[in-house]
Amino acid sequence: MEMQKSEERMCPIIDIVIPCYCEEEVLPETSRRILEKLMSLIEKGMISDNSRIMFVDDGSKDRTWELIEAYHKQDPHFGGIKLAHNRGHQHALLAGLMSVRDHCDAAISMDADLQDDINVVDEFIVKYTEGCEIVYGVRKARDKDTFFKRSTALAFYRFMEKLGVQTVNNHADYRLMGNRALAALSSYREVNLYLRGIVPSIGYKTDVVYYDRAERFAGESKYPLKKMLALAIDGITSFSIKPLELIFSLGVMICVLSVLALIYGLLAAIFTWPAAGIVSLIGCFWLLGGILLIALGIVGVYVGKTYQEAKDRPRYIIEKELW
Ligand code: UDP
Ligand code: MG
Repeated sequence: MEMQKSEERMCPIIDIVIPCYCEEEVLPETSRRILEKLMSLIEKGMISDNSRIMFVDDGSKDRTWELIEAYHKQDPHFGGIKLAHNRGHQHALLAGLMSVRDHCDAAISMDADLQDDINVVDEFIVKYTEGCEIVYGVRKARDKDTFFKRSTALAFYRFMEKLGVQTVNNHADYRLMGNRALAALSSYREVNLYLRGIVPSIGYKTDVVYYDRAERFAGESKYPLKKMLALAIDGITSFSIKPLELIFSLGVMICVLSVLALIYGLLAAIFTWPAAGIVSLIGCFWLLGGILLIALGIVGVYVGKTYQEAKDRPRYIIEKELW
């Protein structure tokens, strides 16, 4: 039985899933380079000729979908999925992975701007044929990123570790997932998607492949600060309830401190010590008010997420598919 399994892993059908949001500037070059890669892998006998490059158009406002249609007409190795509207990178990626799940033996996800080195795809496939179910692409150095992006990312990984969320450092969404891992992923029903947290929690045999991350060769980042923050908040709140516990401990600490202050005030009144001025009093009020608002906000985020999950709405809507 085991023998048969490993044989099945030879020459697998690999689908490459690429979410695209307004990527008309990069798609001509991206499609050319990735097709070249795919054809070389097919020629070497590493993957099946049935392998596909699946672009997921995440409700782009430019000519992205027209380009995808044109590529599909030119070469049957190109396929496309058009989402009905913009749902964001994580949902677009999920839509792509779920659509190719029944077609492929393993799916590789990567960004449209080719910041991820496509030459390590060979290593992904070798690890897969050796029996790995999930292979993570991990960036060697981040010297191509801005100082801001680098330091915020590092702080975020540290923070996630403290919160007890299992993630792979310096891994974005460049990875290979075998069929069984994709089946497991399909059973995660959450709307608040943070794939970098979900995938490591699936388990199975995994491995890591290192690569250098390049600069986006055309167009602008589709991940402005606002989207980055939203992803970070999703990552934290959908994997950890530590912030809620933190609020509780903070409350306890403040209560203890204020009891001490009250005792001081009482003693000061009895022994006529110099009492603290009105300014410090106001400062205390502001501090308390601020802490209360933060606490309320954190609880609010969780309540809001529970609300979104409870509605159980579809996570994406597919308008068209090209196979
Ligand atoms: N993307 C998407 N939907 C969005 C935003 C981005 O599908 O709403 C895609 C985008 O086309 C790209 C990938 O997600 O393929 C990563 O985006 P980008 O390269 O702009 O992010 P960065 O590398 O700057 O973090
Ligand atoms: Mg990019």
